[in-house]
Amino acid sequence: MPQRPKLVLVGLLSKFPWVYEAAERAGIDLILVPRGDDSPEAARRARAVVELLPLDIEGDPDGALAALAERYRREPFGGIMAGNEVAVTFVARAAAQLGLTGLSEQAAAVVRDKRSMRQHLREAGLAVPGFVVVEDPDGWTDALTLRFPVVVKPANGHSSFGVIRVDDRDGLEQAVTRTWKLVESHLGGYDGLATEARVLVEEYLDGPELSAESLVHRGQVRVCAISWKGELTGPYFEETVLRAPARLPAEILAAIEAEVVGAHRAFGATAGTTHTELRLVGGVRPVVLEMAARIGGGGNMHYLTHVSSGIDLAAEAMRLYLGQEPLCWRAEPVPSGHAGCYLVPIGAGGRLKRIRGLDEVRRDPRVEYVVQTAAPGSELLSYPDWSGNPAVVLSRHGSDADTKAFHDHLARTLRVEYEDQVRADPDHIRGETP
Ligand code: ADP
Ligand code: CA
Repeated sequence: MPQRPKLVLVGLLSKFPWVYEAAERAGIDLILVPRGDDSPEAARRARAVVELLPLDIEGDPDGALAALAERYRREPFGGIMAGNEVAVTFVARAAAQLGLTGLSEQAAAVVRDKRSMRQHLREAGLAVPGFVVVEDPDGWTDALTLRFPVVVKPANGHSSFGVIRVDDRDGLEQAVTRTWKLVESHLGGYDGLATEARVLVEEYLDGPELSAESLVHRGQVRVCAISWKGELTGPYFEETVLRAPARLPAEILAAIEAEVVGAHRAFGATAGTTHTELRLVGGVRPVVLEMAARIGGGGNMHYLTHVSSGIDLAAEAMRLYLGQEPLCWRAEPVPSGHAGCYLVPIGAGGRLKRIRGLDEVRRDPRVEYVVQTAAPGSELLSYPDWSGNPAVVLSRHGSDADTKAFHDHLARTLRVEYEDQVRADPDHIRGETP
């Protein structure tokens, strides 16, 4: 009997079931490099996981790479895939060294830095907002040349951590200082690459936000699903809802696809799965915000894609990293409905007591997944700090209108309750990567 393929999955929380379930469906065995904050018992029990391989990819990337290569020498595995943003660089390095399919190290460096993403998009002739890189906190005055409102953000951030909209020149210095502090205390050097703190200021793109999930096989990009994230106007940008498929005219969908495909070319992303975020300026003109060269949202973007397009995104991605052609390259998948993702907002923040209404949501027949990421007792901070949404609800519906109505219902009925309010201390930071 042929051996089942083995794939190394790096840093995907075992609480997020989608990729693990997809591996089981696809007959792929997983060697899991658990995230530092995962529970070893839960990681061991996750579906399709046949082996745990603890590696300190953040603290000692060289040592981690050597240990991974040693594991490969003992018994080769077929591929390696990143489960979170911090793992992207390490996984690209490992794939290059072991001769496995994946993002090149150059492309990984490009997509891990928003400044270089902007520069590559601009050089490729794609749409970019005006932007300025602030190299030290006093350099904020360089950004006064931009058209306001602007958005201040870390060059190597994630999850809207430290991202602040500023409406006029008066608020700029304070926002840059604030983001700078967050970058220094939280993001600096966290993947062994981003040792320089840097802040980006860019012109505000006015329009609804979208997400595009893609597969790239031998340089050929397939945009599998486009999701609607709605109007996020700031000053902080907490994602709350996604609905797929996005209800848009065919010519706008085509323009979004063209921009996403162009971004892959511009970044040199020729293999793997990606999560691209865009704004639709004026409701019509797509502009890329950024690309993550990994599965989006810990795999919840797999769910939106699977339901709305029929493409088993996580399984296809794993096949791809194993060096195989995705099945959807030959057989046209069939969409099975509309999907919703509701990220329960943090609200005021504090020590989590409970999420009132969540048990009822679990019993709702439209709901297919409820994942509570924050346990009672954990401390949640509201934006612009970041400590993760306390729970996510994924549901299936017959129409976009039904999905929206359900999300409105969740917004009215779910209540995050805290023991106490957190101290309003800007230096008190605690965050987790997605
Ligand atoms: P992160 O890595 O923190 O997710 P993003 O660049 O995606 O960084 O920014 C987070 C959010 O901030 C975006 O999803 C978007 O809502 C908002 N945002 C960022 N840049 C802009 C911009 N130029 N115009 C409008 N909104 C923006
Ligand atoms: Ca983002």
